[in-house]
Amino acid sequence: MTGAGAAGAPGDRVATLLAEAAGRLAANDQGGERSDAELLLAHVLGVGRTTILAHPEAPVGADAAAAFRALIVRRAAGEPVAYLRGVREFHGLAIACDPRALVPRPETELLVEHALAHLRARLAAAPRPPGTPPLRVVDIGTGTGAIAIAVADGLRRRGALAEVAVVAVDRSPDALALATENVVAHGLADAISLRPGDLLATEPPLPVPLDLVCANLPYVATGDLRPAPDATAWEPRLALDGGPDGLDAVRRLIAALPAQLGPAGRALLEIGADQGPAALAAAAALAPGLTARTHADLAGRTRLLDLAGPGA
Ligand code: GLN
Repeated sequence: MTGAGAAGAPGDRVATLLAEAAGRLAANDQGGERSDAELLLAHVLGVGRTTILAHPEAPVGADAAAAFRALIVRRAAGEPVAYLRGVREFHGLAIACDPRALVPRPETELLVEHALAHLRARLAAAPRPPGTPPLRVVDIGTGTGAIAIAVADGLRRRGALAEVAVVAVDRSPDALALATENVVAHGLADAISLRPGDLLATEPPLPVPLDLVCANLPYVATGDLRPAPDATAWEPRLALDGGPDGLDAVRRLIAALPAQLGPAGRALLEIGADQGPAALAAAAALAPGLTARTHADLAGRTRLLDLAGPGA
């Protein structure tokens, strides 16, 4: 095992290091301490987590043990595991993560599933002879680029990547730089174009009409933002703070949709579990021509606002 060669202090074995770390993390009440410790030890040793689990008695070298303990100190203070490892799995893809953008959440995979289902249905609905223009897909507030990349990758796996043109937008130059790195790493630089912008107002302007708008905007109410040691305290505020009731950016996007969404277009906006009624009311008030509904995840928690054009 990498890093296991040098003689460590007596007792520096996989199992004992993990137990020590889990105890330290539990004392700070982080939750998920065991799996965090496993991920971080695997990261330090350059192996997969299953290797760690399969070799509890393996000795760990002094340098690796010291590096691991340093990461556990940072994790105990609240720093997200994804930032410590520099990567997070999202929709089966390794997405590079750092404080330039929000860490992709597993719950956002629901948005990707709905996006892919919609695109599959659109592509299957009518013949697409050569020369048919690609469907226009945008990911607003792309952050790491995770949604745009997962959607494009999902289409690539079905041989349908050429049928879409994806634009990923963020108002944070830092996020766009990280998203660019991820797009390139996933071999999607020709499929996804990245551009700065405030919601649908981008430079250069978005191609209209849009066929699918995906958005994981900031939707946490300012008063609900949690201080360290909560992991979100390490993430960009711009990606989380949605104003007094959390829906400032969501409302602005809803209001901008009717002018740019095509008649058969759809918009999928991630929202908080308790925001369904307020999001539906905002849709009725700001985009009465669109049909609005919400979707819940498998646990029954509201996750998505879904807006459809009159022909969708
Ligand atoms: N689900 C995230 C959280 O509660 C919020 C993500 C967002 O605002 N887009 O930490």
